[in-house]
Amino acid sequence: MSEEKSLNFIEEIISNDLAEGKYKSILTRFPPEPNGYLHIGHAKSICLNFGLANRFGGATNLRFDDTNPAKEEVEYVDSIKADVQWLGFDWVKECYASDYFEQLFQYAIQLIEKGLAYVDDSSAEEIALQKGTPTTPGTGNAFRNRSVSENLSLFTAMKEGKFEDGAKVLRAKIDLASPNMQLRDPLLYRIKRSHHHRTGDAWCIYPMYDFAHGQSDAIEQITHSICTLEFIPHRPLYDWGIEQLGLFPSKQYEFARLNMTYTIMSKRKLLQLVSEGHVTSWDDPRMPTISGMRRRGYTPHSIRDFCDRIGIAKRENIIDFSLLEFCVREHLNKIAQRRMVVTDPIKLIITNYDKGEEMLTSENNPEDAEGGLRAVPFSNELWVQRDDFMEEPTKKYFRLGPGLMVRLKSAYIIKCDRFEKDASGQVQTIYASYFSDSKSGSDTSGLHVKGTLHWVSAKHAVPVVLNEYDRLFSVEDVANAEGDFKDYINPNSLNIVTTAWAEPALLNDASEMRFQFLRKGYFYQDTTSTKTNLVFNRTVTLKDAWAKEQKK
Ligand code: ATP
Ligand code: MG
Repeated sequence: MSEEKSLNFIEEIISNDLAEGKYKSILTRFPPEPNGYLHIGHAKSICLNFGLANRFGGATNLRFDDTNPAKEEVEYVDSIKADVQWLGFDWVKECYASDYFEQLFQYAIQLIEKGLAYVDDSSAEEIALQKGTPTTPGTGNAFRNRSVSENLSLFTAMKEGKFEDGAKVLRAKIDLASPNMQLRDPLLYRIKRSHHHRTGDAWCIYPMYDFAHGQSDAIEQITHSICTLEFIPHRPLYDWGIEQLGLFPSKQYEFARLNMTYTIMSKRKLLQLVSEGHVTSWDDPRMPTISGMRRRGYTPHSIRDFCDRIGIAKRENIIDFSLLEFCVREHLNKIAQRRMVVTDPIKLIITNYDKGEEMLTSENNPEDAEGGLRAVPFSNELWVQRDDFMEEPTKKYFRLGPGLMVRLKSAYIIKCDRFEKDASGQVQTIYASYFSDSKSGSDTSGLHVKGTLHWVSAKHAVPVVLNEYDRLFSVEDVANAEGDFKDYINPNSLNIVTTAWAEPALLNDASEMRFQFLRKGYFYQDTTSTKTNLVFNRTVTLKDAWAKEQKK
């Protein structure tokens, strides 16, 4: 982040806190629940939390908020760590809320001893009813008046597994008439026999999010605990727990969660896409997951740039997916190596080229002075794009057609002489002649042509498969669209191009290299790609074709 940029509201707060000497240094945390893969919304939170620490000379913990055993898995923990690292951030400590289970249990005992928590035998429905509504106060029940000693022995019995799942809960005793529903004796603990990915079967009671989160922040001495707007009503409860227990005064701040057009950000829905086979996996390149974007070829730099550009807001909004693609394009333009790949090929024979073949060179990246050159074999039989040829060229057509001249990229100027059709009437072969003195870099021909085409020497070409991706959904605001979100899945989100020829350099290029296939887009080798079956994912098109399409 540049220094001139004005501070956002959280930076203002931190800057003031530091100036006032409230904290010596700041500590933030990124607190994912390991119940799915991280998505671009999480990337926003990661960039924010780690970015603040970087900017103000503090540090960030990675905390797994693993208090809900049923849905959590080690696979998710591992993927989350890999994703945060890939984005370019290092945490100072790897923490697990489950490591605090004993401590949290002791905190609950302290609240009971202070008369601030009680065991309630009511069912979930009864509790909901007794809570009242935002306009009518809640009503207490007999359990609320249990003595400290009775509560202590019942809560201990809950922990020891003496009761059925759901038979009892521990509730905070705060204020049943509070205008803030969160303060109407919220649940602190529930009984749930479920295997936990770290603590196994040691516990049959688990703390609720509201009890675990603030206390975990305080245990780690987090100074600024940043979460999304829906937690604003929880803030008084967050402060209440810390105050009653006399813990480190962590403070909660809220910002608007990231929403984006043409996709969804809910882990639950993303899981549905995977489990019901609408996409192949969590890292399907169409997914808005960090792993999906990585596989598709997005760079960490471009994602960080995007998060920086959108800034942070105090109100819900929806960001255009094109902005993310703009950031990706901008970065790839600077770093991607240029290569030539022909799809929907048509044969072009240069009748007067009698050298057989020769090695030409082409620059790897015109945007990068240090990019260097690569060797590209040329011969008298080439593949060119079918859509670069017209039998009867229109007036301003600057590509191939009888009598027309073009430059072959990094090679020669050619003139199309004639063409041949197959039995079905399809153009099969184009015949051209070349100008031997028009070689790129040493052109003395004096000829001027408007069009430059990409090509591949037929006998040197290697076959490649291209995955062309489009939006996963066909409506802008998927989350708010009527009915089932899956009805809006774009049926054309993947187009697989199986007849494509590439220049042979691709065979020897490192798998993590980023490419611009000339006139086609940016591409990245898929994780399934092998030397004998090269597969590339289209990261993003060269231009924002989608925006144009929408305006039609
Ligand atoms: P989901 O609804 O997808 O399950 P979540 O908020 O439950 O999301 P967590 O694993 O609890 O997911 O989130 C970890 C952190 O990432 C939290 O601090 C949360 O606020 C933040 N976060 C999650 N989604 C977004 C988003 N769309 N924009 C910004 N931050 C987000
Ligand atoms: Mg959550």
